[in-house]
Amino acid sequence: GFKMGIVGLPNVGKSTLFNALTKTAAAQAANFPFCTIEPNVGEVAVPDARLDTLAEIAGSKQIIPTRMTFVDIAGLVKGASKGEGLGNQFLANIREVDAIAHVLRCFEDGDVTHVEGRVDPVEDAEVIETELMLADLESIEKRRAGLVRKLKGNDKEAQQQDRLLAAAQEVLEEGKPARLVEVSEDDAKAWKGLQLLTTKPILYVCNVDEGSAASGNEFSARVEKMAAEQGAAMVIISAQIEEEISQLDAEEAAMFLEEMGLEEAGLDRLIRAGHKLLNLETYFTVGPKEARAWTIRVGTTAPKAAGVIHGDFEKGFIRAETIAFDDFVACKGEQGAKEAGKMRAEGKSYVVKDGDVLHFLFNT
Ligand code: GDP
Repeated sequence: GFKMGIVGLPNVGKSTLFNALTKTAAAQAANFPFCTIEPNVGEVAVPDARLDTLAEIAGSKQIIPTRMTFVDIAGLVKGASKGEGLGNQFLANIREVDAIAHVLRCFEDGDVTHVEGRVDPVEDAEVIETELMLADLESIEKRRAGLVRKLKGNDKEAQQQDRLLAAAQEVLEEGKPARLVEVSEDDAKAWKGLQLLTTKPILYVCNVDEGSAASGNEFSARVEKMAAEQGAAMVIISAQIEEEISQLDAEEAAMFLEEMGLEEAGLDRLIRAGHKLLNLETYFTVGPKEARAWTIRVGTTAPKAAGVIHGDFEKGFIRAETIAFDDFVACKGEQGAKEAGKMRAEGKSYVVKDGDVLHFLFNT
């Protein structure tokens, strides 16, 4: 599965947000309870209205959304990378994630202490980014030192790693994140394997006061500008509202959102933004027993997509009977789509499209 790490300075609303994510009715929808793996790790359902539509048409008994994992990564403060260094557990946690949700305090509240004594989300973002850059630099130096012997032995893999680490180091020493390094396709895999913290894609989460949840405020506007400059994603959320919503059932939540002038829960937007940031898309399997969503990377071929369900599906892949989501809906289901000639037989090289309804045929 895919993992997002939630980071941010203390007192910006990380725990509030994480708790809301893990309690919310949406996350628990469809017989799919949110499960807490560890106190700071949770899986949530990725909301997708298309799945409900498909289930209704097919009369599926069960709806199983695809999931995403969130990790609440506490412990980042100014100077964290100095002294005894960032905690090992912290580093391990953050290296593992596919992307970072960076929560920024965009609300004023005299009762909630700001660690820096002022509300300035852009500077807060820099504080955290600086710590991550310093942590990367430290680990690069260590790793390059560890490669010296292999380099003398002309080890090709070591040479590639060292070259990439050197490129990252150069950018980091200029005070910029390693994600700005341009990496060739041949190096992409090795680059990712380095697991540098500042290469992870970032989603800025502006935690605004309740009154600004619909339209944002001056703080979130500044974050929006910063995110645009960096090519990063951003969402506006009020962690307090989300916490309130998380205590309501689905119907009450819908009413509450309408009163607040919100089209959907901020958490739904957050989860979907994460999905998009990770370059993920969804395909569906639909039958009378269950309608289920599956996550793949954009550009995944049919056998690989089948492999998400089971390794045997990929190994023995023959073909995928494919109906586009819109066709499935317009033809009122599989039978109708078949009759209308909208069901295609796709082979091994087919690149699955977002929303495809697939049925795999495979050798066992
Ligand atoms: P963390 O340290 O980043 O995990 O922050 P917490 O989630 O523990 O929040 C710190 C404090 O800020 C708590 O007292 C929250 O109730 C409060 N808080 C969180 N979000 C908001 C918000 O949107 N508005 C206001 N006024 N307070 C908030």
